[in-house]
Amino acid sequence: MAISSNLGFPRIGAKRELKKALENFWNKKISQEELIETGKNIRAQNWKLQAEAGINHIPCNDFSFYDHVLDTVIMVGAIPERYLNADEFDTYFAMARGKSTLKAMEMTKWFDTNYHYIVPEIAHKQKFSLNAKKVLNEFKEALALGIKTRPVILGPVSFLLLSKTDGNHVDINAHIEQLTEVYCQLLKSLDEVGAEWIQIDEPCLVLDLNSEMEQIYKNSYEKLARAISKTKLLLTTYFGSLANNLSLATKLPIQGLHVDLTRAAHELDTLLNAIPSHMTLSAGIVDGRNVWRNDLSKSKTLLKKIEDKLGSERVIIGPSCSLLHVPVDLDTEKNLANEAKAWLSFAKQKIAEIALLTEANADFSKSDASVQQRKTSTLIHNDAVKERLQTTTEDSYKRKNNFSIRRSLQQKKLNLPLFPTTTIGSFPQTSEVRAARVALKAGSISQVEYENKMKADIKDAISFQEEIQMDVLVHGEFERTDMVEYFAQKLKGFIVSEYGWVQSYGSRCVRPPIIFGDIYRDKPMTVEWSTFAQSLTKKPMKGMLTGPVTILKWSFVRDDQPLETTCKQLALALRDEVVDLESAGLAIVQIDEPALREGMPLKKKDWNHYLDWAVKCFRLSASGVKDETQIHTHMCYSEFNEIIKSIAAMDADVISIEASRSNMELLQTFKEFSYPNDIGPGVYDIHSPRIPNESEMEELMVNALKYIPKEKLWVNPDCGLKTRKWEEVKPALKAMIECARALRKQYAKEKVANA
Ligand code: GLN
Ligand code: ZN
Repeated sequence: MAISSNLGFPRIGAKRELKKALENFWNKKISQEELIETGKNIRAQNWKLQAEAGINHIPCNDFSFYDHVLDTVIMVGAIPERYLNADEFDTYFAMARGKSTLKAMEMTKWFDTNYHYIVPEIAHKQKFSLNAKKVLNEFKEALALGIKTRPVILGPVSFLLLSKTDGNHVDINAHIEQLTEVYCQLLKSLDEVGAEWIQIDEPCLVLDLNSEMEQIYKNSYEKLARAISKTKLLLTTYFGSLANNLSLATKLPIQGLHVDLTRAAHELDTLLNAIPSHMTLSAGIVDGRNVWRNDLSKSKTLLKKIEDKLGSERVIIGPSCSLLHVPVDLDTEKNLANEAKAWLSFAKQKIAEIALLTEANADFSKSDASVQQRKTSTLIHNDAVKERLQTTTEDSYKRKNNFSIRRSLQQKKLNLPLFPTTTIGSFPQTSEVRAARVALKAGSISQVEYENKMKADIKDAISFQEEIQMDVLVHGEFERTDMVEYFAQKLKGFIVSEYGWVQSYGSRCVRPPIIFGDIYRDKPMTVEWSTFAQSLTKKPMKGMLTGPVTILKWSFVRDDQPLETTCKQLALALRDEVVDLESAGLAIVQIDEPALREGMPLKKKDWNHYLDWAVKCFRLSASGVKDETQIHTHMCYSEFNEIIKSIAAMDADVISIEASRSNMELLQTFKEFSYPNDIGPGVYDIHSPRIPNESEMEELMVNALKYIPKEKLWVNPDCGLKTRKWEEVKPALKAMIECARALRKQYAKEKVANA
């Protein structure tokens, strides 16, 4: 029989025990010993759960108090000097979160997931040294519980590829030799304590690598192979196919290779032919990135094909990747309809699925029934939604006229000054706002009382904006917990779980909604709030929506139809909302797409296809309105270079983007490409509590004016203000308005002079 395995278990605990312990520790409510104890209990629980389920290869060192890449920084002795101090925990959390004047290390998204890792900083003359304490301790800790685990480590090449030197790519050649030395020592010590297998993660093998990397991988792994005697190396890849790197991976001196067969199924035949006879194949069959119950009969057929070719003794079965990316336990969900619950599987259930796949004559009837049910369930399938999608025409994807015609119609209606000012949507989510939501949920205030509280806040936000003479107003989004969850709760086809938490970074967890069925909107979702807000002012109010691509990207998405079909359904539901906002008298509607860029596939060859449907979906959501209605969009990142043409193709009348944090880095892009529509490069870094002054904002705008004509420019912050305090927001926005005034004075004059 094949071997059952896991690549990593969620570390936050089924009830987010780790989150609570970390936050209590940071707030000095519990001691370091208590935090350590919590970690130990979570690990023990996870190991036991997997052992009891019958998993053969159970991981250790998949636990982390903050992030596994940060743990690797410590393991290889790459702590930047400025953080070093005698207290290990203090050093660790200083890197992760910053400390007084010391900023935290940079954080970025882990491949195409919503998990964030700490970006290691490698100095030009970096020295590495081994600190194997954590991994050895965890191995021994499990052993003491009677469980021989498979240590998980991030491989040396991926580690360097994920790192930065002075903010740029690392010179791999300069460091790989010494780093490999450290890894050799590590492998030797794991060999000595009796680890049978070591899982060495090299997820970068699914990326487009340049030819130089092949030699680097070979040299490094040849040395690693020489460092061990009894221990076997399982090289793990995930999140995609190996593609061009397949022959490299199969030639490395490793004993096992893990492949993500949920995303690389098309590669299986090539792989089965290429894999050498001494190598074990670890088949990632159970999706570690999604929450659907596995189709075990289908998996079994796939497995049989692999076993027939390789012999079952050369086959390991596992999840596609670490289960870090799914919630812990479906059993904790008490309010889900049984029918829907039967379609789902969280980490604990996935472990059971893997175990079941290695059992002879296992009973797959529940899985079979769920598969059948999902094909026909009327909860999932809605003919009206499917038909509506069929009837969209080319015209559904475009506005009636081109931008220049729209622009003059909009200008006539809105009569905005040069350098119009606006914000991105949210205003501070104060503790009172959050308390009101908690009280509503607990039943201690009524729906009406809750709404009145929100309305009072909207009123205040509008008075403030009028007072400082903002040109385009927002209502403040006080009624939204989260820009995706708000819509998920209102749209049909979504489940919002109670405990479906997934780690985003450190103690921060998110609860992605689950898109299980055809999506539609049965009634307006935001119109009441927006019309209430508009009724309080004569200035234009922006209706505020989250775009289809962003809702898709930040949810668990059904796997029984192409992503783009689901996204189009979302787009149509949002289109109805946009049209309703217009009918209710809103002259401007903003459709946020902050996740559009992070949705980009890992391989370049897949980009065009993705961008094509993503842009189409945005256009489908935005194109139902009249020409005089102004559509805005918003994105918060600044690396636009490669996708600027697609952004332009979205054809939003106005786009606001992050720019101040990166010091107008995006202007580089506008040197080469003249963006056709209006644009607001952010002048206020909302990630920092710092209050920018007028002159520095002006400086940013003057910089922007070198590349973007003044008629196209808007003045706005980088992103929404919900994480900021009113004390910061008020002076910063006042300064922003002053900045716009100063620009108008200077540049309106210029126009006269030129005339
Ligand atoms: N409208 C949203 C807000 O202001 C946009 C948030 C985002 O871009 N992530 O909060
Ligand atoms: Zn943003």
